[in-house]
Amino acid sequence: MSIDQLERTGVNEMTKPFIYDYTLEELEQWAVENGEPKFRAAQIYDWVYVKRVNDFSEMTNLSKALREKLDDQFQFVTLSEITKFESKDGTVKFLFGLHDDHAIETVIMKHNYGNSVCVTTQVGCRVGCTFCASTLGGLKRNLTAGEIIAQVVRSQQILDERNERVSSIVIMGTGEPFENYDETMKFLRTMIHEKGLNIGQRHITVSTSGIVPNIYKFADEDTQINLAISIHAPNDKLRSKLMPVNRRFPFDDVMESLRYYQGKTGRRITFEYALIGGVNDQPEHAEELAGVLKDMLCHVNLIPVNYVPERKYIRTARKDIFQFQRILADHGVNVTIRREQGHDIAAACGQLRAKHMEKHKEA
Ligand code: SF4
Repeated sequence: MSIDQLERTGVNEMTKPFIYDYTLEELEQWAVENGEPKFRAAQIYDWVYVKRVNDFSEMTNLSKALREKLDDQFQFVTLSEITKFESKDGTVKFLFGLHDDHAIETVIMKHNYGNSVCVTTQVGCRVGCTFCASTLGGLKRNLTAGEIIAQVVRSQQILDERNERVSSIVIMGTGEPFENYDETMKFLRTMIHEKGLNIGQRHITVSTSGIVPNIYKFADEDTQINLAISIHAPNDKLRSKLMPVNRRFPFDDVMESLRYYQGKTGRRITFEYALIGGVNDQPEHAEELAGVLKDMLCHVNLIPVNYVPERKYIRTARKDIFQFQRILADHGVNVTIRREQGHDIAAACGQLRAKHMEKHKEA
């Protein structure tokens, strides 16, 4: 069945488990329990992730009986394309519908080094960052690992048409991945599996708002996957104003967990800092941030915030962005300003879904 056919069928009932929710080891167990040799699982895995079919009937090196059994017991994740926006810079943003009529955003970004995919881990988000449209309707539900995987497989299928690859993944779409930790880790393990999509661990970044217990857990996972932290303020008081999650996990505890992560992994941490006009973008904020980060192996990514009408947040003036950057750099902090992608298509987190929800309310 083609993607188009799948979209038309628009499966609305989740009657069977998603094949993408099964690891290779779980598929091996399933094969053995169903009287098949263990190696069948690797063949299925290859059809799913390397040949990237959307229907069990296409798995032609399996017996007809096995294909029918798979079809009886599993389904593929259906991502129906509600809208798609293509930016002049090559960014493509999708609003996908899930089987239960929820909508999620996935973005393919084109860089000179390849294509990266930004995935969503939850329908909505309960973290409540004040500059973020994704959190406006609260959290609806967690995505399963398979639903996160499907976003990357779908992106790769789209890129297959022009012989290109998903070269990196960022978990920076809607949701707090560390509030959906187990499914996120399952997703990551599938992404890096050498028999699957085989994405290099160092080309994957997971971004958290600072769910401290799971930063420790992630540090102990023994992976090479990058960690980014949405910091957005140089101190506890201001961070609590911008990010309510800071009241649950205070600034100093977040920093301590990051030091643990760094000690354990030796990896450089990315600090995401959304610059909000007149709020956290003053020279003294840059000075304070430089002080906090002075002993850390890190990189600061400055993100000029998009206008958020609900909060009346405005963008920092260009000259002030450069001043902020210069102050950090003068203190020896590695810092860049995020290249804005898809600005003309509302590529910032949650904006497309928020518009869609608004429309549904009106309908
Ligand atoms: S920025 Fe991320 S963690 Fe914060 S509310 Fe938005 S989706 Fe949630």
